[in-house]
Amino acid sequence: TVLANAALIGGLIEACREVIAANADHLSELDRAIGDGDHGTNMRRGLEAVYADRSRLVQLPLPKALEETGLTLVMSVGGAAGPLYGTLLIEIGRRLVGANGEIDLARALEHAIDAVARRGRAGPGDKTLLDVLYPVHAEVVRRAGLAGISQQAERAASLTFGMRAMRGRAAFLGDRSVGHVDPGAKSCALLTAAICRFLEE
Ligand code: ADP
Ligand code: MG
Ligand code: MG
Repeated sequence: TVLANAALIGGLIEACREVIAANADHLSELDRAIGDGDHGTNMRRGLEAVYADRSRLVQLPLPKALEETGLTLVMSVGGAAGPLYGTLLIEIGRRLVGANGEIDLARALEHAIDAVARRGRAGPGDKTLLDVLYPVHAEVVRRAGLAGISQQAERAASLTFGMRAMRGRAAFLGDRSVGHVDPGAKSCALLTAAICRFLEE
């Protein structure tokens, strides 16, 4: 129904905005270690722009709302993460509903993650938000449940600690990027956990 759709979209926006606002300082701190220190403020700016647009977004069908949210992130986040998160949401929105009208999140995620990887020219182990997205997709495929998905996301983000960055600003540090959690992976895990928590309620 329209009301359920609006409550879902509104709740997702609120949950994401809240977790980013609460962790913005921490995300920027992680980015100070291996980047330019702005990941928290970039993400907060993006989520605040989405939040400001929520009364329009909640009236859209979910796939369209995801696409529009992605466009807003591309325009507002600034920094490398904007186009990557934007691409993710735009492509999930485009593939969420199959030809026969059923929702297939696993397939939509796979397609969207491929698009992010192409856009960033990045893959598994490059110490980016993709290192959280791949395991999240795997958990969705094996129907791990919301708690399992968010646990794996957190675990995957912490595993970036030992990785050497191959893409983005952190790659300039080479071996010195080892020993720090990737800020984009961390924001991705936080968002995943917040979404799972909201959907569990
Ligand atoms: P910027 O580096 O432009 O300041 P942010 O600090 O907002 O942008 O985002 C940095 C995060 O973006 C990184 O921690 C990483 O997860 C992700 N990232 C950067 N470049 C790439 C890339 N080429 N492919 C995938 N992810 C990337
Ligand atoms: Mg940065
Ligand atoms: Mg920057």
